[in-house]
Formats: sequence, C-alpha cells, structure tokens
Amino acid sequence: MNKKITVIKGDGIGPEIVTQAQKVLDTVAKKYDHTFEYTDILMGGCSIDACGVPLTDEAVATAKAADAVLLGAIGGNTSTSPWYKLAPNLRPEAGLLKIRKELGLFANLRPAVLFDQLRNACPLNDEIIGEGFDMMIMRELTGGLYFGARETKVVDGLETAVDTLTYNEKEIERIAKRGFDIAMKRRKKVTSVDKANVLDSSRLWRKIVNKVAENYPEVELEHMLVDNCAMQLVKDPGQFDVILTENMFGDILSDEAAMVTGSIGMLASASLNDTKFGLYEPSHGSAPDIAGQDKANPIATILSAAMMLRYSFDMDAEADAVEAAVKKVLEEGYRTVDIMSDGMTCVGCEKMGDLICERI
Ligand code: NAD
Repeated sequence: MNKKITVIKGDGIGPEIVTQAQKVLDTVAKKYDHTFEYTDILMGGCSIDACGVPLTDEAVATAKAADAVLLGAIGGNTSTSPWYKLAPNLRPEAGLLKIRKELGLFANLRPAVLFDQLRNACPLNDEIIGEGFDMMIMRELTGGLYFGARETKVVDGLETAVDTLTYNEKEIERIAKRGFDIAMKRRKKVTSVDKANVLDSSRLWRKIVNKVAENYPEVELEHMLVDNCAMQLVKDPGQFDVILTENMFGDILSDEAAMVTGSIGMLASASLNDTKFGLYEPSHGSAPDIAGQDKANPIATILSAAMMLRYSFDMDAEADAVEAAVKKVLEEGYRTVDIMSDGMTCVGCEKMGDLICERI
C-alpha cells in the first residue's frame, strides 16, 4: 500500500521522537512491502519563527491532502520562551487548535495501557492492578460544554456565569459509531459514560448510543454514570475496554486513566474525523527541559504511529508487530531515563528507536 503522511516534528523533543517513529514506520514499510511518503510541515514555535504564525494555511492544505498526520509536540517553556509574550491566537498551541478544527477531528482516542514490565510505575496496588489493564478512552472533541454559548453578566446585582452544554443527535451518533468501530477491533465492550440521572444532554446521549448499538450486536454495551466511572478507574481498571464519553467527562477521565498507568512517555493518542483520516501524537508535551539531549522516551510517539497503521490504514498486523516490539524491548529490560528502575539498562531516545526497529 502507498500512503501519504504529513509530518509535524514541532518543537522541543518533537523532532527527536518523530524521527524514531518514522524509523519504525520505514521498518514496517520494508517488512510488509508498503510505501510511506512523508511531507514535513511546520507548526508551533518553529512556524512562528519561520512564518510569523503558528500554522499557515498552506501547511493546513498539505495536511488535508495526506492520508494521516504524525505529530511530535509543540510549544516551549511557557515562562521563558518569547512565544508566550505573543497574543494567545499567535502562540504555539493556537496551531494545534487550528489544525484540529480545520481537519474536523471530532473523536479523540487515548489508550491507557499498563505494560506488565512497568507495573511498579502504577500508583495502584497489586491487588487492584490484577492482570493489568488496557483501555481506550474515546472522547468527543468538538462539542459539549467547551464549545457551547457562554457569558458572564450581572443578574440581580450578582456576577453570574453561564456555560451551555449542547449536543445534537448527529454529533452523538458519529462519535458513538466511532466508539463501536474501535471496540470491534478490540475486546468488543463499550462503556458509555454520562450523567443521565441529571442532565438532558446525557439522556439524549444514552438514547442515541443505544440506537447505534443495535448495529453492533457483537459489542457488549454498558452505561455508567461519570462519578461511578471515576471511582471504577481506580478500583477496577481491568473492567474497561472502550470508554465512550462526551468532551468534558472525557477530558477529566482520560487524564485520570493516564495517571494510573504512571508513565507519560508511554501514552499515545489519535484524533479522528468521519473518514479514515487521523492525527496521531503522543499525549505528552514538548518537554523543553530535556530537548536535544537524547533523553526523551520515543515510545508514546511510536505507539501513536502504530495507531495510525491500525485506524487510518487498516494495517492491523503491522500495528500488532510494532506494539509487540515495544513490549519485547521492555521485557528485555531496556528503559529510557523517565521509566528507569533498578537493574534495567538505560538507553537514549535514538537507541530505543533502534531496539524497537530491530524487533519488528
Ligand atoms: P510536558 O509533557 O512537555 O512535560 C512534563 C514533564 O514530563 C517534563 O518533566 C518532561 O521532561 C517529561 N516528559 C514529557 N514527555 C516526555 C518523554 N517523551 N520522555 C521523557 N520525559 C518526558 O508538559 P509541560 O512541561 O507542561 O509542557 C511543555 C510544553 O509542551 C508547553 O509549551 C506546553 O504548552 C506544550 N504541550 C504541548 C502539547 C502538544 O503538543 N500536544 C501537549 C501538552 C503540552
């Protein structure tokens, strides 16, 4: 297969980690007889320096013409970098918001996986961890409270703020379909999270999710209230496969799920639209404190590239091979400094990339 990938290396550790992910993709291409064509675009601080804005319209057009986008990370030290003296709409992060909007990325996927080899990084006790966990948080990204009408005004002499939580059936239907499609590629269980005992928007959410579920008879569906879900994530995380939820609940739950894995350098993510197109990036930022020192953990970006293979290119065997190679390297005791523990072998970013490629 021939696929076009737009590459955004970005700032800080971005170039280092993306280079390793591209190396992994090249290894996959060679082994499975694919061609991946890369086109680099600038986004974030590097684009501000070169073009005066965090993302140009030409760069957006290049991204739109690709089959998928691979992103490292953008941004600098928010206290010291001159980028943060600019108006908010000209700062590095504005590039990220613009590209998500322009590409219509409404579904955010964040896997939270506990690698058996990294059990001791998990803040939960052994009994709770049990056999480990491997869940996928599917969060709606362009609707709900963060995008509804809002205002602050004085009512009866009191300063009063209003945020509006709006979802229509179409917005719920498309994210639900995505959630069930992902579950079909996994353990075929969806936990739909809402607050249907209180909110109208959640009652509509539940109704539409039930309707979509009728088309996926193989998938087990359960509904869970968000407060219970927050508890269950730390009480019995192994029960979850796909967690499907709206924007704000997903924002909070995905960070909670990330924390229980204990290692930020390992967490991949994907943002999808209603085609096969997606933007794939690690969940962490640009880590300016360790940039250029070959200390960054490239695994989150490599696992994001594996998600690209699986969800944008339908290359499941290739994605499995990358994920298995990552597990193998960890099993053999190799660690970057952020996940280092006693008795393991500490390696740099580049070496970690090489080790993973050798095991594909
Ligand atoms: P961060 O995730 O960059 O770093 C937090 C801590 O984790 C740092 O100590 C860093 O060294 C460490 N870390 C992060 N990724 C690592 C990796 N792969 N390997 C080893 N250690 C790693 O968060 P921050 O310091 O709050 O933000 C730095 C910059 O990144 C800011 O400009 C912020 O706006 C930006 N940011 C960008 C994105 C994105 O591009 N999507 C996301 C979050 C933050």
